[in-house]
Amino acid sequence: MTDITLAPIQPDQPSHLMATYGRQAISFVRGRGAYLYTEDGTEYLDALTGIAVCGLGHAHPVIAEAIAEQAATLVHTSNLFEIPWQTAAAQKLAEVSGMEEIFFSNSGAESNEGAIKIARKFGTQQGVRLPKIIVAEQSFHGRTLATLSATGNKKVQDGFAPLTNDFIRVPFGDVEAIQEAALQHPDIVAILIEPIQGEGGINTAPQGFSYLEEVRNICNQHNWLMMLDEIQTGNGRTGKYFAYQHTNIVPDVLTTAKGLGNGFPVGAVMTQGKAVGLLGPGSHGSTYGGTVLGSRVVYTVIDTIQKENAVENAAIVGRYIVDQLRTQLADKNVQVRGFGMMIGIQLPKDCAELVAIARDQHKLIINVTAGSVVRLLPPINMTQAQADDLLERLVALINNYL
Ligand SMILES: *Cc1c(COP(=O)(O)O)cnc(C)c1O
Repeated sequence: MTDITLAPIQPDQPSHLMATYGRQAISFVRGRGAYLYTEDGTEYLDALTGIAVCGLGHAHPVIAEAIAEQAATLVHTSNLFEIPWQTAAAQKLAEVSGMEEIFFSNSGAESNEGAIKIARKFGTQQGVRLPKIIVAEQSFHGRTLATLSATGNKKVQDGFAPLTNDFIRVPFGDVEAIQEAALQHPDIVAILIEPIQGEGGINTAPQGFSYLEEVRNICNQHNWLMMLDEIQTGNGRTGKYFAYQHTNIVPDVLTTAKGLGNGFPVGAVMTQGKAVGLLGPGSHGSTYGGTVLGSRVVYTVIDTIQKENAVENAAIVGRYIVDQLRTQLADKNVQVRGFGMMIGIQLPKDCAELVAIARDQHKLIINVTAGSVVRLLPPINMTQAQADDLLERLVALINNYL
């Protein structure tokens, strides 16, 4: 198809890329389902999927075909015009999320920017001059100025002052701290949290998902917007379409991205109830948000997740992986936390070096977050046989290490 051949990357050769990432010295040229391949054909099992992005696996044939066909038909017009694929994608997303209104963006951070704007608009309409939003410690909400200010990680914020100062931070899971903040700050209008903290180490609150129910009650009591960041936990990742569906509550504002496009850059901010209608004509926008191509991808991803029963699969196979890890690593001092295909293995010591050992010795792609947590984000449609393949490599890795 193309007559361009790229020269292999030489680690000692200067590159024009801004050095914002600590990259591993490996590149993949091809993928299929749960597996990635280097130029020389070496196969790696991918238990990271581009950090919870390629939930349906790499190069999914149905999604590849939709992208190719739409790219050869019409990629982009503009939100100045009706976009039937965007309307259809919103319909699908409303069905699976239980939300009412959807705005399409291009990334997770941008979706959270939309949520923050909605909260401020909500506050302003009630006469709150400088509205504040409660956020949690160890949270991650993105790298734009407002979202890095919301993020509970000093490393993300260092050197980027002035931060936006409308965020009030509480310990994740601490309901009393929220009530305390409510007493001190009458200008709070919303709370923004992750149902499971991803970058923070695959943590639910100490009381589990009932935290979300407690937060919902507090939001009702104070007339705040309950806003959930499901950028990582959404799209079937945790064994429900959205993680909040493990509970009986519904948030007012919901953000997602990552798995929504299976690798195509898209995101969404969604509203229901009292958050509906806050952003009207002229108050928000994005040139690329909800392009014809992007919208068709979203539609196709959701449709494929439904047709493959991938959410149910994530719950069943994810549970199997967690059970097996707990059994097979029972004599090791590890704690396994998992919901669907979002799994963290807490090791008794810092273990960042495991990423390279897994890759080089077991041909396994994993991630380590929060210093000592092995993070697994395999495809949500992973088969039982692939799960056994994953377990074999992973148990050997951890047994050798501890
Ligand atoms: C990845 C992530 C983001 C940021 O998404 P980007 O697409 O990188 O901007 C925000 N919140 C959570 C919970 C995430 O996991």
